[in-house]
Amino acid sequence: MHWALDSHLPSSGIREILDLALKRPNTIRLETGEPDFSPPGFVVQAYRQAALEGHNHYTQTSGIPALRTALQMKLERINGVHRSREEILVTPGGIPGLFLAFMGTAGAGDEILVPDPGWPDYLGGMASLGIQAVRYPLIFPEFVPSLDDLEKRITARTRALVLNFPGNPTGRIPTDSLIRELCLWAERHDLWIISDEVYDQIVFDGEVLSPARWIPERTLAVYSFSKTYAMTGWRLGYLTGPEQAITSLTQVAMGIWSSVSEPLQYAGLRALNGPQEVVAQMRQHYRRRRDLAEQFLDQAGIPHSHPDGAFYLLVRMDTSDLSSRAFALRFLNECGVAVAPGSAFGAMSEGWVRISLAAPESDLMDGLRRLKDFLRR
Ligand code: PLP
Repeated sequence: MHWALDSHLPSSGIREILDLALKRPNTIRLETGEPDFSPPGFVVQAYRQAALEGHNHYTQTSGIPALRTALQMKLERINGVHRSREEILVTPGGIPGLFLAFMGTAGAGDEILVPDPGWPDYLGGMASLGIQAVRYPLIFPEFVPSLDDLEKRITARTRALVLNFPGNPTGRIPTDSLIRELCLWAERHDLWIISDEVYDQIVFDGEVLSPARWIPERTLAVYSFSKTYAMTGWRLGYLTGPEQAITSLTQVAMGIWSSVSEPLQYAGLRALNGPQEVVAQMRQHYRRRRDLAEQFLDQAGIPHSHPDGAFYLLVRMDTSDLSSRAFALRFLNECGVAVAPGSAFGAMSEGWVRISLAAPESDLMDGLRRLKDFLRR
């Protein structure tokens, strides 16, 4: 029998460490981007109430109108972007929104520009669609795209540019003028921008501006409730873009998930309409952890990134004889701390490990102390 899907899709180097960490009792877990908080109580309550009140049915594929209206307001309030309801598709998390964006903008054999270091999960989706991911470098300490580097990678098959601010794993936010330049550059080359904005509300310094402010007609932006409301396991996100693109991707969504869980959409509505202090409180915790971690690493003389947002820190291993994968495996086995190897995010972050700030402060600081000792050995 013929099996059409390429079975050699890229696997995540974070997964390898995570799977080992799960088998090892008492491991300090700093490898994944899982908030250590729970979803707000009023959101849990809203889900329960929606189910009890009979909201247990299929809905419009694009999402219930009330949720899309609330999302319109959120996009105006937080992202400074005006979108009509027809320009918003509710998705089961950010990942499916990204997958649809790849599918809509590029075909088999086409190329999409992807940051290096960047979130590894972009690659599996693209590979399954036969799309070639062409990596462009983000260089320490700035970790922002350079137009020269992008220009060198453009070919007749380039269709889109993936941007991710604040980014995983770098956490960096570029200046508005650089975002504007990137928009002009994409326009000049007739490219789409696929803007991954799932960390849009975890910003410590500065403001993150969506490319959709300048070029809404060629921006597909992906958002999620996962990180903002600590709802990773609930699977709720949304994709925004020009109406024609969203209408055609909604047709695709109809043939994949039909509609997102109805009580979940009501819970999402409550998350948006409820008190937003919960978001600010979580952000404060991540910020405090970033500051404590950076202070510790500075005192120990260990180079690291300086994230403006998201909840990750890149830490330089400074051991030329070990790959970051070998380092992460040894650090886990010998010191009981799980970190993500830099190589999982691309060749540019070989020599680094990523530490999640979404872990409890005591775990984070204990993990860093062990890292310092391990590096000294
Ligand atoms: N984009 C980035 C950069 C991420 O780090 C993640 C999750 O870790 C996602 C997208 C997907 O998030 P979700 O599918 O949970 O919304």
